[in-house]
Amino acid sequence: MESKILLILDLDETLIHATATKLGDDYAFQLYHYYVYRRPGLDAFLASCAEIFDIAVWSSASDDYVKQVVEQIFPVEIKLVFVWGRSRCTPLVVPQIDEYGYYNLDGASHYEYAKLLKKVRRLGFDINRILIVDDTPEKVRNCYGNAIYPTPFLGNPDDNELKILSHFLDSLKTAENIRSIEKRHWQRKFLSSYET
Ligand SMILES: [Mg+2]
Repeated sequence: MESKILLILDLDETLIHATATKLGDDYAFQLYHYYVYRRPGLDAFLASCAEIFDIAVWSSASDDYVKQVVEQIFPVEIKLVFVWGRSRCTPLVVPQIDEYGYYNLDGASHYEYAKLLKKVRRLGFDINRILIVDDTPEKVRNCYGNAIYPTPFLGNPDDNELKILSHFLDSLKTAENIRSIEKRHWQRKFLSSYET
C-alpha cells in the first residue's frame, strides 16, 4: 500500500489567531502576552486529517511558541511527523514588483521566512505526496504546486473555512501526484459540497 500523503499545517491565521488585543472572552488559552483563539471546527478538522494523512506542523513563529501552541491544540493521540518553527525556515528576499510588473530593485525589499520543501524531502518524503497549508503564499512560493492557501483567520467566530478545507483535502487523499491537481480557488469549488 502506498504511504499516506504528508500534510504540513501552518499555525497562525491558518489554525489559530494569536493577538495581544483581546477580541472576546472565548479565547482558548493565553501564551506569553497573547490571547489565542482557535479557528472554529479545529478539533474536527484535525481528527479528520489524522485519519487520512500523515501530519506535520511548520510555522515561521519562534520554535518555543510553536511547541507550546502544538501542545495546546493537538490531541496526544495525533502523532506528528515533525514540529518545526522559525529555525527550520529560510529567510528569502521578497522582490518588490512595481506598478508595471517589473522588479523594482531600488525599492525596499523585505524578508519572508520561507518553508523550503527540500528540507522535508531529505527526510525521505516524495515531493509529489506533500501538501502544505499556509495562509501566506510568500512563505511557500518555492513550492506553490504543493500549497493550499486558506483565507487568513483573524478571530471571526463564524469562520467555516476548516469545514470546507476538510472536504477539499478528502478529495485529494487518493491522488498519486498532488502537484498535478489545481488547488487555486479551491474554496469556490468546495463551498457547494459543504453546503449540501
Ligand atoms: Mg500563517
